[in-house]
Amino acid sequence: MSETTHCGYVAIIGQPNVGKSTLLNQILGQKISITSRKPQTTRQQLLGVKTSDNPPVIYVDTPGLHKQNKNALNRYMNRAASGVINTVNVIAFMGDAGHWGEDDNWVLNKLSSVTCPVILVVNKIDKLGNNNEALPLMEEYGSKFEFAAVIPMSAKDKEDVEQFETEIDKLLPSGPAKFPEDQITDKSMRFLAAEIVREKIMRLTGAEIPYSVALEIEEYKEKENIIHIGVVILVDKKTQKAIIIGKKGALIKEIGTQARRDLEKMLDSKVFLRLWVKVREGWADDERALSSLGYGE
Ligand code: GDP
Ligand code: MG
Repeated sequence: MSETTHCGYVAIIGQPNVGKSTLLNQILGQKISITSRKPQTTRQQLLGVKTSDNPPVIYVDTPGLHKQNKNALNRYMNRAASGVINTVNVIAFMGDAGHWGEDDNWVLNKLSSVTCPVILVVNKIDKLGNNNEALPLMEEYGSKFEFAAVIPMSAKDKEDVEQFETEIDKLLPSGPAKFPEDQITDKSMRFLAAEIVREKIMRLTGAEIPYSVALEIEEYKEKENIIHIGVVILVDKKTQKAIIIGKKGALIKEIGTQARRDLEKMLDSKVFLRLWVKVREGWADDERALSSLGYGE
């Protein structure tokens, strides 16, 4: 008896904040890609490999595409997202059912030259009064592009996510499993540690902290059953440093406590986490500084 298996790469593409990382986390059932209410959390494309069911599917969570690519960081993020478009087997183009607009059109235009199937994912339908409200939008977008499927969903809903995976599976090429079973993500634990600290900074600081925060892992080693992690938080301005540190160090302490708890859960180990805040002016606009932080090509 021969069994057909499907495997391949799937890219989740869309504006920042539409729910790409939330969907990936749901699919993988593990906190890999970091979500937050603020955009630009997923700065590097993140691979997630779903291996729990045969066959493996590799999901690529892309950083959001940014219409305004005014600084080097945004330009890097656009290059990373654009780069994956032409290397995957299926693209899931995601938008927010609550507000679609010019920026979504801009992303859609980027897909005009791809040869793989593209599915339209209208996410966050749970925010609508009723599901029918998504219909006009789905029709409008369905006429703009020849989508292989149109899926209204909530990335937070388990059944919706399973439905999404079923649709994806139909579109993947058949072939033997190629990927190691235990590989959850190709990014190192260092990267995940930095992303968790980033998430806490974003959650705990107000709107006055812009997205110009970079994380550098200075130390990552296991010693006597404790994982020691040292993280440098790079900011643009002295005032931002003061905000992150907080009154008498209260905020940085809270960031550290929350990040350590998540890390201990994720790594299943005791973690000793140290944080420093440093000011490096204009880092987000300096291509060289960016590549030293791992944002290079
Ligand atoms: P990304 O920038 O596209 O990766 O977006 P995230 O996955 O980080 O999600 C951005 C925000 O939208 C987070 O606060 C999520 O909790 C929220 N979100 C994601 N999916 C849904 C959804 O289906 N319904 C609702 N109500 N919120 C969602
Ligand atoms: Mg994301």
